[in-house]
Amino acid sequence: MNQKLTTTDHNRDIAGLKYVYPVISRRAGGLSVGINFNINNACNWRCVYCQVPDLVKGAAPEMDFVLLEQELRFFLNSVLTGDFYHKFDVPLAQRVIKDIAISGNGEPTSLKGFDQAVSLIAKIATELGIFAKSKFVLITNGSLMHKQAVQTGLKILNNYQGQVWFKLDSATVYGRKQLNDCPQTVEQVLKKLKLSSNLCETHLQTCMLEYIGTDKTESEQDAYLDLVGKLRQQQIGIKKVMLYTVARPSLQPEAEALNKMSEAKMTCFAEKLKVLGYEVSVSP
Ligand code: SF4
Repeated sequence: MNQKLTTTDHNRDIAGLKYVYPVISRRAGGLSVGINFNINNACNWRCVYCQVPDLVKGAAPEMDFVLLEQELRFFLNSVLTGDFYHKFDVPLAQRVIKDIAISGNGEPTSLKGFDQAVSLIAKIATELGIFAKSKFVLITNGSLMHKQAVQTGLKILNNYQGQVWFKLDSATVYGRKQLNDCPQTVEQVLKKLKLSSNLCETHLQTCMLEYIGTDKTESEQDAYLDLVGKLRQQQIGIKKVMLYTVARPSLQPEAEALNKMSEAKMTCFAEKLKVLGYEVSVSP
């Protein structure tokens, strides 16, 4: 019997590969080909809503570039011939590669040779005719934008009309400490956003959830609006703000204290961002 791949099934081992995993993505509306550099479940942040099992502090391990190439070619060929869709009983309407997303069980830009990996993925996807039809996306917490290899990687991403989805859950030091276990100041965040948006199209991705003292209401909401206002003043070009909430349970100790944010609250916040001139999407 064929296995079914659904929008709630984000099991990164489902294809039996080390670096490459498929996701039928709610947000993308089709197949998202994920590339996981952090096979050791290591991240430099610890977000309370993180769905990485046994998350540890750290960086991505050494990349086996030969294996990455073999896996990506094998997987993309199986999609292009239809075998993958048949095996996983993917509905016809979703049989389209929407994007190749560098997004894994940790912060992908912590990989040594990050630029080399971006270049390899782009080369293979171009050879197979997947780019420029499908998007090339980097999902990152943005904290390592100061590194040369990361900036080179973003330049390569930009050459393939790529997008950086830059995590910004809170605009206060307190909120980021609570939600992301990250002590960055507003100035540091602005600097990293500037670096990112100067090199490649950059979107903000903001997780909205109910968690004591850190939801996007009152002071938190004001601080966020203030920060995105500063982005405008400093001509830091953000293409879009993507608001989403927790769709699947957190695998962190705080899981019990978290709740989805209501669609009404998210939409209300989105309207305030639109007034500031931003394109906004809401994924409740
Ligand atoms: S940045 Fe991403 S991988 Fe890292 S802890 Fe946060 S949600 Fe998890």
